[in-house]
Amino acid sequence: MAEHLINTKLIHGGVDGDEHTGAVSVPIYQTSTYRQKELGGKVPYEYSRTGNPTREALEKLIAELEEGTAGFAFASGMAAITTVLLLFKSGDKILISNNVYGGTFRILDKVFKQFGLIYKIVDTSDISLLEKELEPSVKGIFIESPANPLLTITDIKAVSVLAKTYGILTIVDNTFMTPYLQKPLTLGADIVVHSATKYLGGHSDLIAGLAVTGNEELSARLAFLQNATGGILEPFDSWLLIRGIKTLSVRLDRHLENASYVADFLRGQKSVEQVYYPGLPDFKGYEIHQKQASGAGAIISFTLAQGFDIREFYKHLELIILGESLGGVESLACHPASMTHASIPAELRNQLGITDNLVRLSIGIEDKRDLIKDLENALSHSSI
Ligand SMILES: *Cc1c(COP(=O)(O)O)cnc(C)c1O
Repeated sequence: MAEHLINTKLIHGGVDGDEHTGAVSVPIYQTSTYRQKELGGKVPYEYSRTGNPTREALEKLIAELEEGTAGFAFASGMAAITTVLLLFKSGDKILISNNVYGGTFRILDKVFKQFGLIYKIVDTSDISLLEKELEPSVKGIFIESPANPLLTITDIKAVSVLAKTYGILTIVDNTFMTPYLQKPLTLGADIVVHSATKYLGGHSDLIAGLAVTGNEELSARLAFLQNATGGILEPFDSWLLIRGIKTLSVRLDRHLENASYVADFLRGQKSVEQVYYPGLPDFKGYEIHQKQASGAGAIISFTLAQGFDIREFYKHLELIILGESLGGVESLACHPASMTHASIPAELRNQLGITDNLVRLSIGIEDKRDLIKDLENALSHSSI
């Protein structure tokens, strides 16, 4: 079939329906095993941890969307990240963006460290700081751009080019952007990971993770690890995720429109000290983001000004839901210091700018005027 553009790929990419029956929707192959015709014969599927047609349809789809060589679906974003980190071995060192997802920090700090995999936090938004950290034991660089929750921008291409010259793998967590807005493999990264729980699923109704590799050698190694560790996504959730991905572009177009409207509103409020949103032209990293992505996303963080109480703010949100997670059709507000980033020690958290007066919003696809009304009300009630 001819190469299609992304809006079409979202609908028809991967495995388009079912060739046996003509069903337009990929069937849910709820099976653990497969009949083998003879001893030692070649079979497309033998056991569902190793391969399942519904999961495979999803894996082919995400590989196409990210323009990689192979895709892998996992039971959560953390299962995807964990499996990718198993590519490294004891004595290796990984550099991670400051502000990476709290769970990524936690698995490195509390689990992988015990097995001798070392990590170091670096401000990857400054490429010269990253370059200073490069020494022979560094085997991987793990970045998020925009990073969570201050939306810090890292130049993915510059990092990838630098990493490549030293034989270091570049891994990008592309959860906040999705391939609709940013394709790290085309910028030179080696591996992309996703919490598909967020925008790709899009409806706050499933937990899933994806990884996509940029070359055949890495694809083979990750296929081995996926089967060996077994943290796979089950057939029903694979189907649900395919269903979510079909509407990714229409959802994101609305997410972007709403987020840009809310960011402009927040900027004008005296109750708001600072707004973090990559779509604002004076945001640090704006130009790099413009170069590597086609939209600013729909996560906005801001700090409440002095004289305004954070508890009162959250208490008076009526439409916007106080909750963990992001990327669903409904707007969510979270308090990074006590929720998503609580696993980072307080001192380090403050150093990173994740202060107690920081609010993170995941802007949904409701009517933007209702969102503004809700924020206006909560901000006015938060005045001390
Ligand atoms: C949520 C999230 C994860 C973890 O994914 P789960 O699906 O919750 O396991 C990883 N990275 C980012 C950026 C996230 O937002």
